[in-house]
Amino acid sequence: MNIFIKEKARKEIFELDEYVPGKPIEEVKRELGIDDIIKMASNENALGPPPKAVEAIKTALDMINIYPDGNCYLLKEKMSQVLEIEPEAILIGNGSDELLRLIAETFLNKDDEVIFADPTFSEYEFTAKIMGAKCIRVPLKNFCHDLDAIYAAVTSKTKIIYLCNPNNPTGTFLGEDELNLFMQKVPEDILIILDEAYIEYADDERLKSGIKYLKENKNVIVLRTFSKFYGLAALRIGYGLTNPEIARAVRKVFEPFNVNSLAQVAAAAALSDEAYIKNTLLQNKQGKEYLYKEFDQMGLDYVPTQSNFIFVDTGQDARTVFERLLKMGVIIRTGDVFGYPTHIRVTVGTTEQNQRFIASLKTVLRG
Ligand SMILES: *Cc1c(COP(=O)(O)O)cnc(C)c1O
Repeated sequence: MNIFIKEKARKEIFELDEYVPGKPIEEVKRELGIDDIIKMASNENALGPPPKAVEAIKTALDMINIYPDGNCYLLKEKMSQVLEIEPEAILIGNGSDELLRLIAETFLNKDDEVIFADPTFSEYEFTAKIMGAKCIRVPLKNFCHDLDAIYAAVTSKTKIIYLCNPNNPTGTFLGEDELNLFMQKVPEDILIILDEAYIEYADDERLKSGIKYLKENKNVIVLRTFSKFYGLAALRIGYGLTNPEIARAVRKVFEPFNVNSLAQVAAAAALSDEAYIKNTLLQNKQGKEYLYKEFDQMGLDYVPTQSNFIFVDTGQDARTVFERLLKMGVIIRTGDVFGYPTHIRVTVGTTEQNQRFIASLKTVLRG
């Protein structure tokens, strides 16, 4: 290694693994020379972007010579109405990924401890490690968060607990009763991050948003995103709901214009694109049912999901399954990176995509 980097870079840097995203379509096109590719790897909305958001962007294009509103005033007003929460309690980020980073920068000192499930969304670990915090991983139990074990892992050094609800990559959820009990007993000086990136898809009545804990004055940040359900992944916009004091603290580490103007208008428009919202829910419901039925017929075990992706056990080496599906133009995620070497995570797509995925999977598994 270059001696300068070795001696001068912060030592936390050497602890970091690079994020491995779902393989981009263009990359697969270049590498394999095939054109007809479907990506079911990153939990994007297969319907495309919300038409109302696209319209709003067109109108706003004339203004991209002007810096965006650093306070996202109009978007916050809109969100405030929809979510029934005061604008001062809303944090808007360049994706919720950015908010995770800013939260870590606001609260984490070297050697503080953070707790999260294993496997869960990798950005919790990444952003905590950058700050030199110690990461405590608590294995899932039967694919679900094990709140007793998470509670047992709390020490006097614990600063943040991350709960992904529903969990990525398993699609499992924490029910209201269970979460209530946990929130009642967890020490008050711990910040709870409730990542609800997929909650709009949830249809189990036991799964409730953590927004209500804000009314109880708990130290909670509920994270949401416009990247998944709302179909705006490329624009990079996500949000956090918390209390105004925590919001003020986190805002101190914000860059001045962290959310671009096209993302701001698109997000506001997406929130009221009723037809898109309805279609997204319908497509996901039908897609889930179809995929469940096919997996059942193929004799594959899967984890029932509250999101727009399914964690399924192929019974074979997931890397090999991935490579073979890729050659057929279907991109999915392998479970090995999550510690499940025979599982894959597949995003629910359009009817056509789901059918093509199943047909390809059948071919691949037959060998
Ligand atoms: C995709 C995802 C995010 C990040 O979303 P962005 O707003 O695009 O940064 C956050 N949390 C979970 C669990 C996710 O799956």
